[in-house]
Amino acid sequence: STPVTIFCSLTKAATSGLLLKGGDYVEALAGLKILAFDKTGTLTKGEFTVTDFSTVGDDINIQLLLYWVTSIESKSSHPMAAALLEYGRIQGIKPILENVEDFQNFPGEGVSGKIDGREIYIGNRKICVRAGCESEFLTKEERNGYICCGPTLVGMFSLSDTCRSGALEAIEELKSLGVKLAMLTGDSTHAATLVQNQLNHALDIVHAELLPHEKALIIENFKKDGLTAMVGDGINDAPALATADVGISMGISGSALAVETGHVILMSNDIRKIPEAIHLARTTFRRLV
Ligand code: ADP
Ligand code: MG
Repeated sequence: STPVTIFCSLTKAATSGLLLKGGDYVEALAGLKILAFDKTGTLTKGEFTVTDFSTVGDDINIQLLLYWVTSIESKSSHPMAAALLEYGRIQGIKPILENVEDFQNFPGEGVSGKIDGREIYIGNRKICVRAGCESEFLTKEERNGYICCGPTLVGMFSLSDTCRSGALEAIEELKSLGVKLAMLTGDSTHAATLVQNQLNHALDIVHAELLPHEKALIIENFKKDGLTAMVGDGINDAPALATADVGISMGISGSALAVETGHVILMSNDIRKIPEAIHLARTTFRRLV
């Protein structure tokens, strides 16, 4: 191959805000068959707002519940935590961080901590299972968040997030380039469907409620069908980014681990640069043959 031509492509890509960590990725992008996106923070802005927050049962009132949730979530850097803190602030709740002991983060599930002698779990269904909760609400009521006090379900909430501007455009361009598109998310099926709707059902494959290693497993399977790229921003995306032929990480909002793991860094966070890069890569390789 002619390194000069590839070098030119790398420079050109860098000028438009796409940093490739090597010439091999130009070749991989040129022959790309499948592109998988993370949802939160990648296809969406990752800025959640709380749309409902309620108690389950009569034992705990909403103020106490919000005090537990905001105190524990103050220790999390997840975008959902920020939304819950803002919701509590508006309700006049003061989190007391010093009262939280044994804070734990479970990637793809949620968080837990001990507050005033109670074991509290906040997150999706998986963390409720971890708490030993078997409430029928977990299957009956579709929410992106549940709160357990020990094995008892004491609250539920929903959060909504919107697509990034340019997401629909990027998806449509990728489709016209003949790339198969997927979304892999740790969020609920309901939340995934809302994003698929906003994208005019353009995604070929949607998988929800995934743990970080399950995202990587799906990428491993995609690779059997051809060159596969994964786009993500979070710590939870790192295994999938590493597994993909091309791992693309979000530059501005991406976690340090995602940026370090990614083979390509999207400096501007603008996913419309991805079809542009594929186009550039194809042109480069057409010139070489
Ligand atoms: P994604 O794959 O969409 O980036 P994550 O793997 O970060 O999602 O999170 C998956 C799910 O885990 C979230 O949808 C949420 O239900 C739960 N979760 C993770 N962290 C938290 C947290 N700090 N508070 C509440 N829920 C959380
Ligand atoms: Mg994410």
